[in-house]
Amino acid sequence: MLPARLLGRKATVRATRSVLRIDCIASFSNMLPPLSDAFPDLIRSKFSSAVESGSLIFTPSTEADIPADDLTFRVRIAPILSQKPVLRRDDDATGKPKFNPFLNPEPDLFLCDFGDRYSLILNKFSIVPYHFLCITKEFEPQRAPLSEIDLSATWECLQANIQGGSRLLAFYNCGEFSGASQEHKHIQFIPVPQDLKLLPDAALAYGVPISKDAIGQFPTSHPDVPFAHFVLPIPRNPSTEDLVMRFSSLLARTLTALREHGQRSISFNFAMTKDWMFLAPRGQESYEGISVNATGMVGLLLAKSEEQLDFIKSTGPLEVTAKVGLPRITGDEQQHDY
Ligand code: AMP
Repeated sequence: MLPARLLGRKATVRATRSVLRIDCIASFSNMLPPLSDAFPDLIRSKFSSAVESGSLIFTPSTEADIPADDLTFRVRIAPILSQKPVLRRDDDATGKPKFNPFLNPEPDLFLCDFGDRYSLILNKFSIVPYHFLCITKEFEPQRAPLSEIDLSATWECLQANIQGGSRLLAFYNCGEFSGASQEHKHIQFIPVPQDLKLLPDAALAYGVPISKDAIGQFPTSHPDVPFAHFVLPIPRNPSTEDLVMRFSSLLARTLTALREHGQRSISFNFAMTKDWMFLAPRGQESYEGISVNATGMVGLLLAKSEEQLDFIKSTGPLEVTAKVGLPRITGDEQQHDY
């Protein structure tokens, strides 16, 4: 039985080995409107003014590509990452963090409200221009998975055409070992070069097995990647139901992997583009001082120094990510029993 808190208070989940039924997704009324056409101009001008005023600390980085089988891991080297806060364990009795930068976002970083529930803000410590966050207006825990309306918001944000020659990558670091540093729910977005092939792009190139369930496809994984991860393509113009069914299917497998490997806490990474959705369960936050979040699990690793880059090169990016992920479940990977 999947804990109801994983899918919101009203969720009741019943499942058999092959069928996942989620009663809380019976209605799909929570769709968000598209972002304004003016959003790309807004983010570009706000980014420039926030950098100029000093409210946004933009630190340029260098990058190196490391091949691994038919994949390429792009490693960004940014010494400022040494100053990145870690997830703090100083919550008060209500479970809320004592200092929460997202409760009253800095005006210089604020982009716009998004529906009644979200605000869009610029990332204060950016190494990629136009890195923005979709945060809930009220506190919601980052340890909860994405809800129907979160997925709708993510989809609408992904439509923004911020920078020519790039596409947006959405990511969500959920749980203690996911690489998250803030407890307040935030989905992040960065532009990535259009022609950069990420792990899910490479996995989908092998094709997606057909199933008879509501989605019509089984999640797939890249055959040469040693850590558990699950990918599904997104159809053109998906409904919110299409997104929720995919997320549920990927989450079921992720939870199965966490349970099979005896994990006590639920940690996973989510990533999404207009083309696919990806989930990977996590067993630890870092390996040899190299912190990995969702971007690393899809092929965009971060290094704090040239030494860390050398370590990733000599160890191999797939080995590093395998250490922070969980081993693939052997046997029938299509089986899941949540
Ligand atoms: P994560 O570390 O994955 O939980 O993501 C948290 C994000 O919030 C990071 O990208 C931080 O750089 C960013 N961040 C931290 N403090 C602030 C702030 N005051 N305003 C906006 N973004 C912030």
